[in-house]
Amino acid sequence: VSRRGLVAALTLLVALPLAATSGARASGGTRAPMVVAASTAPRAAAPTRAAAAARGRAPRAGEIGTRPSGADEPDATGGRQTHLVYFVPKDRPDESLDSTTLPRSVDAMRAWFSREFARSGDASTPRFDRLVGGGWDITFVRGDEAAAWYGSMPGANALADVRAELQRKNFSSPAKRYLIFGALDAGTTCGEGDYPLQPEEDTGHYAIVYLDSADACGARAFATSGSASGGGKAETIAAHEWLHTEGVAPLAAPHHCATSPYHICTGPLWLAPDLDPESREIVFPVITGALGGEELDRDRDDYLDSPVPGARNLRSSPWLE
Ligand SMILES: [Zn+2]
Repeated sequence: VSRRGLVAALTLLVALPLAATSGARASGGTRAPMVVAASTAPRAAAPTRAAAAARGRAPRAGEIGTRPSGADEPDATGGRQTHLVYFVPKDRPDESLDSTTLPRSVDAMRAWFSREFARSGDASTPRFDRLVGGGWDITFVRGDEAAAWYGSMPGANALADVRAELQRKNFSSPAKRYLIFGALDAGTTCGEGDYPLQPEEDTGHYAIVYLDSADACGARAFATSGSASGGGKAETIAAHEWLHTEGVAPLAAPHHCATSPYHICTGPLWLAPDLDPESREIVFPVITGALGGEELDRDRDDYLDSPVPGARNLRSSPWLE
């Protein structure tokens, strides 16, 4: 058993502002409806499973689908890189988000990180896993369990369960991070990420966006373009969780959020996000806006070129290019 079996990391989550949370409850329960097009999309006559599997056919909206899980393809570039996984529990429809939606998410996130880094130096961006033939290497993984199982056991959480399954399926390279878009409903929790308590051990390798959490998360408000301004709330959640795996916003950061560890805020004001000057900060404790309007450590004092001892400088991360 490698050290990777022992996760010396916290799992941090990002949730909704209290107003949105209470609103969701007031409008009828804490569980948002699953986003499925099955009720309106016409269904074609079902092809044989063997034929569909053989072609790796993308399913129609609402179909469970028969596409087999993929594998991490050969890498076009070396260096530490982030690999995307589109994770669909066995009872949820395969919506083929890996075909055009998630590649656009990668483009928008890269453009946004470049824009934000360029405000104070080189236009760095996370290195994403590229296919040898071009394009992003995004793997479709069919979960072994039904959606309701993930995170349902006492003491479990959905990210931990998905992480364990991915590790069994060989998504466990020490040179890779795994950014997961999962068709899972964690209520008012929009996403989660592993925060490495010992950065030198490099244990923060998994982060997830919960696609079917409360509508107010915006986890399906995907990028409208591959530009920095086109990033949606889905990419806000993804970038936020990715930054947790980077170990930003340490306890020593000037704007460290005492009431929401390893996040950035201004004292207790984050409970009323409209009043907090840091509310557009990407690692603010709650999701408030689309990625295009978010900021990466705007004062460069918390984790980007921070003068504070013990505050990690994101700019020197080996996970960037
Ligand atoms: Zn967070």
